[in-house]
Amino acid sequence: MKLKVCGMKYQDNIEQVAALQPDYLGFIFYEKSARHFEADNMPELPKSIKKTGVFVNADINLVIKKINKHNLQAIQLHGKESPEYCKQLRQENIEIVKVFSIKDEFDFSVLTPFEDIVDYFLFDTKGKLPGGNGYAFDWTILNNYPSTTPFFLSGGIGLNQIDDINKFKKSVASKYCYALDVNSKFEIEPGIKNISDLKIFKNNLISTIMNYNVNEKGYYGEFGGAFIPEMLYPNIEELRQKYLNVMAEPEFIDEFNQLLKDYVGRPSPLYFAKRLSAKYKTKIYLKREDLNHTGAHKINNTIGQILMAKRLGKTRIIAETGAGQHGVASATVCALMGLECIVYMGEIDIARQAPNVARMKMLGAKVVPALSGSRTLKDATNEAIRDWINNPVNTHYIIGSAIGPHPYPDMVTRFQSVISEEIIWQLKEKEGRENPDYIVACIGGGSNAAGTYYHYLHEKDVNLIAVEAAGLGVDSGESAATSVLGNEGIIHGCKTLLMQTKDGQITEPYSISAGLDYPGVGPMHAHLCKTGRAEFMAITDEDAMKAGLELCKFEGIIPAIESSHALAIFEQKTFKPSDIVVVSLSGRGDKDLENYIDYFKI
Ligand SMILES: *Cc1c(COP(=O)(O)O)cnc(C)c1O
Repeated sequence: MKLKVCGMKYQDNIEQVAALQPDYLGFIFYEKSARHFEADNMPELPKSIKKTGVFVNADINLVIKKINKHNLQAIQLHGKESPEYCKQLRQENIEIVKVFSIKDEFDFSVLTPFEDIVDYFLFDTKGKLPGGNGYAFDWTILNNYPSTTPFFLSGGIGLNQIDDINKFKKSVASKYCYALDVNSKFEIEPGIKNISDLKIFKNNLISTIMNYNVNEKGYYGEFGGAFIPEMLYPNIEELRQKYLNVMAEPEFIDEFNQLLKDYVGRPSPLYFAKRLSAKYKTKIYLKREDLNHTGAHKINNTIGQILMAKRLGKTRIIAETGAGQHGVASATVCALMGLECIVYMGEIDIARQAPNVARMKMLGAKVVPALSGSRTLKDATNEAIRDWINNPVNTHYIIGSAIGPHPYPDMVTRFQSVISEEIIWQLKEKEGRENPDYIVACIGGGSNAAGTYYHYLHEKDVNLIAVEAAGLGVDSGESAATSVLGNEGIIHGCKTLLMQTKDGQITEPYSISAGLDYPGVGPMHAHLCKTGRAEFMAITDEDAMKAGLELCKFEGIIPAIESSHALAIFEQKTFKPSDIVVVSLSGRGDKDLENYIDYFKI
């Protein structure tokens, strides 16, 4: 169920509520209301929050004026507005919510003339003034709801109603309940919302369904947390205390969005792959992260983290890298901001990934070889952590996937969530609906998948598919199929699923694609796997390479081998012709040319 917070009035309070990420924020344009929104401008809000104008028998021209002035995405009509009135507003291309008040009984036939005209109904308690009465009506009346139009449930919903809401969720009436609308029960005074109460409510609301987001303690179900050496505690704690506030600052949001637009080249297109769709007899859309600056989704996260580092007053950046992709993305943003950049990389990887090492050096980064252990990614990570312990004050550690101690998995996921934020409106434009039937993404640590899933995590009609690397075969001993082979353990500061021997030694993973060659998955994905929210599939090197070449031939796009794994599922799973399947094309294949050449003897 979605959440709408209504009756927003004051700038600071609006921003604080927006940071909790409700789905709708309501602004009342009705002079007689104590919550009348009078300010000239609304603060910039994340695109995922729909700004809703609330009107009572207003002149239609005034409504249109407000829609344009404040860039409203929805309107809510509380008066005696007629079906014709609503029809006229349809042309404004916004969601229309028509309100009806319920007392002890309700004549549902009054809804009929509005059925095909409005998007949602909203049921409120009948009271003296529209909005903010503070009393709940008897929800069992809705057991007779004769319509299939989704509705908002409103009227006196507060913390005391959590048990009732849970009961309601099990009733027939809840089937078409699309959102809960809250207002006066969460107020300190009219127009000022109590943030901590709202937070509790939102967490409860989600947890009674199943929370796939991180909780207050940094856990996704049983996975996550921060298992770190004592010496790192101050660094991680500083980040934990500040990251959400920093990310909610309007200047931060502005700067992040501006760079994503002008530097990274966002929004990345949502491309309908026509010939591929014809072959597999379903509708396949590709989310083109391959078109981002530096060629993959990783830049979304490094842009976010470099801005975070600056806000925290850090002047020196460290990162670890395996194949070099994250190292390049980190070196790029350090050059952009003029910050010192040190990239730790296993000695073996340095030899294997010469072009990326050259890129990092050209971008001004210092590449430091990790000489211990197997001289690969995990040894580079150890070196980076050692560096951080020694330089706690001036240094920020940019982690490159949705892994690491809390708050990293959540922070990285939020930076990458721009991917699903865009899919929502792009799909609406192309298909007239926001939700695809399936979302498919490959998983190394899980950052492109986390970002592509994020805004759909609690949308039950959207199926999530996570694609891991099976290497030479799941049972070959040469794979990275963590969901099948892994069990609970601690890696890089968090509790998650990882591949390990009986006595807890981490197993060396293998995949032809460097980005999927990781022995664990991020804690969010461990939770999605354990709860069954996401379906996990494993794809071999061979099937991935074939799917990669197929995309070249069918669509003229050379994908990264990581992304080719996601594309390979169409040979294994059948979709319906009407299904919309969105695939995260996480990166482009330039970096993999040599691999493709060797493999196919091109
Ligand atoms: C790094 C990388 C991946 C894997 O990382 P995630 O954090 O799982 O997204 C996938 N695709 C590409 C192109 C990459 O560079």
